[in-house]
Amino acid sequence: MISAYQESLGGMGEVRVRMAPSPTGFLHIGTARTALFNWLFARKYNGVFVMRIEDTDPERSQKIYEKDIVEGLKLLGIDWDEGPDVGGPYGPYRQSERGEVYAKYLTQLQEFAQKLVDENKAYHCFCSQEELMAAHQDMEARGEIYRYSGKCRGLGPEQVKENMDQGKPFAVRLKVGNEKVAFEDVIRGTIETSTDQLGDIAISRGLDGALYNYSVVIDDHEMKISHVIRGEDHIPNTPKQILVQRAFGWEQPIYAHLPLILGTDRTKLSKRHGATSLKDYIGQGYLPEALLNFLSLLGWHPSGDREVFLTQELISEFSLDRVQKGGAIFNIVKLNWFNNYYLRKKSVADLRETAVAFLVQDGFLEPAGENGYRYPQTGTIATPAYLESVFALAVERLNTLGELKDAIRYFFEDPSCEASMIPWKQMTRDETRGILKRIKEVFDKVSPDEFGKEKITVALEELYQGDKGHVLWPLRVVLSGKEASPPPFDIAAIVGKDTVMRRIDNAIQTLL
Ligand code: GLU
Repeated sequence: MISAYQESLGGMGEVRVRMAPSPTGFLHIGTARTALFNWLFARKYNGVFVMRIEDTDPERSQKIYEKDIVEGLKLLGIDWDEGPDVGGPYGPYRQSERGEVYAKYLTQLQEFAQKLVDENKAYHCFCSQEELMAAHQDMEARGEIYRYSGKCRGLGPEQVKENMDQGKPFAVRLKVGNEKVAFEDVIRGTIETSTDQLGDIAISRGLDGALYNYSVVIDDHEMKISHVIRGEDHIPNTPKQILVQRAFGWEQPIYAHLPLILGTDRTKLSKRHGATSLKDYIGQGYLPEALLNFLSLLGWHPSGDREVFLTQELISEFSLDRVQKGGAIFNIVKLNWFNNYYLRKKSVADLRETAVAFLVQDGFLEPAGENGYRYPQTGTIATPAYLESVFALAVERLNTLGELKDAIRYFFEDPSCEASMIPWKQMTRDETRGILKRIKEVFDKVSPDEFGKEKITVALEELYQGDKGHVLWPLRVVLSGKEASPPPFDIAAIVGKDTVMRRIDNAIQTLL
């Protein structure tokens, strides 16, 4: 069966979508998810993805946020196809640089507005920004959705003339009656708003205060946007934007409002739930590919049970009619799972490069030329081969690269372990010392060159006498200083015989 949405695709011709973030904060998970869905949609239909920075609010917009948003999306591999620059690579469009475009339409809109005023369908409103803001805040504080009070609707022609003569700034407001504005949302079906809830809408105003709902509509028209895919928090803006479109006589794009992202407690995802900015996640050591795969499932359901998708697969699988209406739960356990999966999937060399870059940035390692990397605490140099074995072992239990340095420190310096941690179950310190001495004896028989996993495993066998724990537990703790770590054979094989013997000696001393 062909859905209305598929038909609409056929009818729309070229797919052109846009991401329109306001640079008023760091790139957060919700914005990244919206960008990703737009991008996947554009790539799937060989369409165009436009990036437009909505920075018309000079008080709240900041360059550092714009940079963060642009860089964050690039890190995820999300790129855009058009921009103000010639030939590319394209910078994003910025509303602050598009004054001329809005001016062009302003004249048209003003003429249109005047016609509406003449026909008594619109009126001049002289309310100041401060007045409107105050009313906005009052209504918000009462938990109501803002709408204009209609104060200037009743101004007589003399008052209007007087205000105009005094050069008072004004807006033209549409007299919004009690009509219905309905639109088809690809994800939610028909959304109908009764316009009496909207209040009279300002459609034209001096350029210095370009109206949000006005510039969005002009840009979407100018940029020939076919599908507006954005967060559900924009649903209240849509009828207003449709009225502005109607005022211009423009075609309506197709709307798809994505579900909110919620924490596991089902409230809107916020700082309370931990990091919300994408860069914070990257900083904690989440891989872009894991984040991308995870984000793709925040509200979208692939057709089968599969969850792991390469970007190319996401592009071919993605479809708006498999996006859910209800809030999408952000589950960090799942993100950790994806990250661990993508870390494990890396080739040995790739994992080394990624992990080293992270550890160098963190100050845990320093580049030491061709030989490898220096561990500054002790000055020892780790060769690339050594690092590869360490990472290959650690990656199994690793959620994030941020956990790495604590997980691998004992490969670079001897751990200090509490005497109480070393004995197995009810064993006494003396008995444990005895076991450690016996381990030394059997290891003594293996030459340093042959001190690999297999030989170590065989050497230890003669000590077990049925119970491995009393041998393996103390050895593992002595080598790693941790209650949980990879098996002792693996650690011993990597750090080598000298280090193993020294750590056992240290532990024997600790147990005295
Ligand atoms: N600039 C708006 C925001 O950051 C988005 C506008 C839109 O997608 O229509 O919330």
